[in-house]
Amino acid sequence: MRMKLTPDEASFRTHMRDFFQEQIPREVRERAAAGESREPEDIVEVQRILHAHGYAVPNWPTAWGGCDWSPVQEHIFLDEMHLAHVPEPLTFNVDMIGPVLCAFGSPEQKERFLPGTANLDLWWCQGFSEPDAGSDLASLRTSAVKDGDAFVVNGQKAWTTLAQHADWMFALVRTDPDAPKRQQGISFLLIDMTSPGITVRPVRLLDGSVEVNEVFFSDVRVPAENLVGELNRGWTYAKFLLGNERTRVARVGVTKNRLSLAKRLAAGAPSGAGTLLDNPLLRARIAELENELVALELTLFRATSGEADQTAIASILKLRGSELQERTTELIADLAGPAGLAASGHHDDVPAWAQRSIRSYLTHRKVGIYGGSSEVQRMIIAQTLIGR
Ligand SMILES: Cc1cc2nc3c(=O)[nH]c(=O)nc-3n(C[C@H](O)[C@H](O)[C@H](O)COP(=O)(O)OP(=O)(O)OC[C@H]3O[C@@H](n4cnc5c(N)ncnc54)[C@H](O)[C@@H]3O)c2cc1C
Repeated sequence: MRMKLTPDEASFRTHMRDFFQEQIPREVRERAAAGESREPEDIVEVQRILHAHGYAVPNWPTAWGGCDWSPVQEHIFLDEMHLAHVPEPLTFNVDMIGPVLCAFGSPEQKERFLPGTANLDLWWCQGFSEPDAGSDLASLRTSAVKDGDAFVVNGQKAWTTLAQHADWMFALVRTDPDAPKRQQGISFLLIDMTSPGITVRPVRLLDGSVEVNEVFFSDVRVPAENLVGELNRGWTYAKFLLGNERTRVARVGVTKNRLSLAKRLAAGAPSGAGTLLDNPLLRARIAELENELVALELTLFRATSGEADQTAIASILKLRGSELQERTTELIADLAGPAGLAASGHHDDVPAWAQRSIRSYLTHRKVGIYGGSSEVQRMIIAQTLIGR
């Protein structure tokens, strides 16, 4: 396996590093670096700048704005984006519905949705999970019944991230309740969020933010032309989409940034005759995290080189990437100590990073749940690699 970048890849890295520094406004990057914020305006602004330079949807086919990059280039692009603290383009658009429409959408759907999806003129949300259908997604019950030239949708979606900003939802719905296998009775629908009969109810998360929602459907009419692919084949398209989602959540660059921050903070915190960074236990903890992060990045390179089992690799990246995000936010909260309890943002005597540390720790518990929980990823890895 080749780990060293070729001269072309190294110059591509330099190009992307300069691009993010020069083209993405400093305030946007500073806001993201400070609060790890997901301000909708910042996400829209960044995605449109990327789109103007041809970088919004590098993973799509070139006919629809993709860059035809190698997997290594795609990794470098993401890594540099994270290292520069650039808010990521909207994953629901770029990594989820866009690739699904490119692969399975009708020509009319591609023309109608792909340009606005790439430029974030259309904000999408993901309507998969339901109150009794998360890990066991195939048990979803939201129904879509054909009525003339439309489907009538009834039911409820849960945990729908950023649905409060969404123009459209891509949703899994049950179209054949009598199918011999539950997976065979599911279809993939595009639903206009302004349709009569839709109610969005916010859910407050552990850190106090409102990012996820419940979405209710009451006799919502969805034109039949908004069915993606074939009726009752939605499970196939969903599996394609979830593979992309899991690969993207490794977020190696974000964790690199957080570990650098931890080292800077520890080096600046007096302790005994030196600083906290001289503490052997803390040094060992940071070294262990750094080693595991290097291992994750090497695994990512193995994934991109095509050497690893592609079914298992998405789950391995999701699992290890989530764990490292959880453990590094815990490290920062530990460095803050009691100062982290001043989480209100109104304590001038407590540094801002310390005030944010507990909120960040709390909100990062979610990364081991969304996109498939860590337990479920372990099961997939075991089944795929050791057949149990
Ligand atoms: C912050 C956040 C954002 C989200 N955003 C979205 C979104 O935008 N769109 C969307 O569709 N969904 C979204 N989700 C939903 C997410 O995909 C589900 O929460 C996830 O799949 C787990 O499902 P569940 O919550 O129903 O938990 P359950 O499936 O009920 O699981 C509960 C617990 O049991 C464990 N468990 C379940 N099955 C097994 C098993 N077979 N073996 C071992 N352990 C098991 C799980 O690991 C978990 O710890 C989001 C979730 C969160 C937390």
